[in-house]
Amino acid sequence: MSTTIRLEKLSKHYKAQVPGGGVTKAVDEISLEIPTGHLFFLLGPSGCGKTTLLRMIAGFIEPTGGKIFFNDRDVTGLAPNKRNTGMVFQSYALWPHMSVAQNVGFGLGVRKVSKQEKDERVAEALKIVRMDPYAERKPNQLSGGQQQRVALARALVVRPDVLLLDEPLSNLDAKLRLEMRSEIRRICSETGITTVYVTHDQKEALSMADGVAVLDMGVIAQVGPPRSLYQRPSSRFVADFLGETNFLHAEVTDSTRTDDGRALLKLHTDAGDISSTAFDAANLPAKGNVTCSVRPEAMRIVEPKTPGAIEGKIVETIYLGEMAQYIVELPGSTRVKVFELHPSHVDDTGKTREPAIGLQIDPKDVVVLAD
Ligand code: ATP
Repeated sequence: MSTTIRLEKLSKHYKAQVPGGGVTKAVDEISLEIPTGHLFFLLGPSGCGKTTLLRMIAGFIEPTGGKIFFNDRDVTGLAPNKRNTGMVFQSYALWPHMSVAQNVGFGLGVRKVSKQEKDERVAEALKIVRMDPYAERKPNQLSGGQQQRVALARALVVRPDVLLLDEPLSNLDAKLRLEMRSEIRRICSETGITTVYVTHDQKEALSMADGVAVLDMGVIAQVGPPRSLYQRPSSRFVADFLGETNFLHAEVTDSTRTDDGRALLKLHTDAGDISSTAFDAANLPAKGNVTCSVRPEAMRIVEPKTPGAIEGKIVETIYLGEMAQYIVELPGSTRVKVFELHPSHVDDTGKTREPAIGLQIDPKDVVVLAD
């Protein structure tokens, strides 16, 4: 049960319903390899094509072009029930008149398995999702999180080669969502099933994924493990979509290339001079205009007049208990967002204490994007 999913120039184009309306490229020539056993996320804003892509992998939508492989098997033309996938939808889609066990066993009904094997497999699937004590209950006697576990068990009972999850947690409240994140993570690593998970929730993707493809208007904007996407976004779109960031326009005043392909860039911004140890020197201009992305939590508040720090003034404070979010005005009327864990610049009433500060930015945290 080890399946690598490979997409080759997979497309789904829709002709417009109105005359002269053109074509919607819901998915446009996406090539991607999802390694066996990975919990892989398709992440992006509404309308970016993630559901269309997932449904093509499931077989519910026929591609306009390209191919889908499960290992070396070309499944592009196969009906959904011939692909051995398990799918979990946003709505749990459980039968209200059936017990939990009957709902889970339903997926095996059309497969020729004996009663004994069916009972064993239902018990096994319920055990994996820790719902074995609830086998005889009806769905309306379960919480939302428990119903979602049953939906997962129903997908797992067929022992799928590939598990497909379409925004599975979006109907749950915030606390349950957090709990189910680790549950799904556990289930995926315990079963080793290659899983594709669609969401627009970047926190869900960052906290759970082995790999993430960020989609933008039908194409992949960037693909990689969560931390590298967050720390090394390759475009404004990815930097902005994954978490919060500050964009600073800058001019490269000096660049030194190092032997390992990195670059040390000296940058002039309206707020002051900063440096970046950009990762990929290959595509960066030696001189000229660039955009820098600096995460709010990467800006360190220090005493004013600290050597090397940019002078700033806190002009807005939002106190959130464990952290504070500040808007800091820097020279040149540049405003940046700064996050401080365990806040020290907030008084007892949640207001700003000592607005004058210095800001330090570590060169490794300055991501330089070509303008
Ligand atoms: P959401 O998070 O809102 O579900 P999504 O990223 O899953 O969005 P898709 O549902 O895959 O996006 O849709 C991608 C694009 O394709 C959208 O612009 C959508 O309007 C278009 N689209 C989807 N289905 C059809 C269809 N049957 N006919 C025409 N256009 C469609």
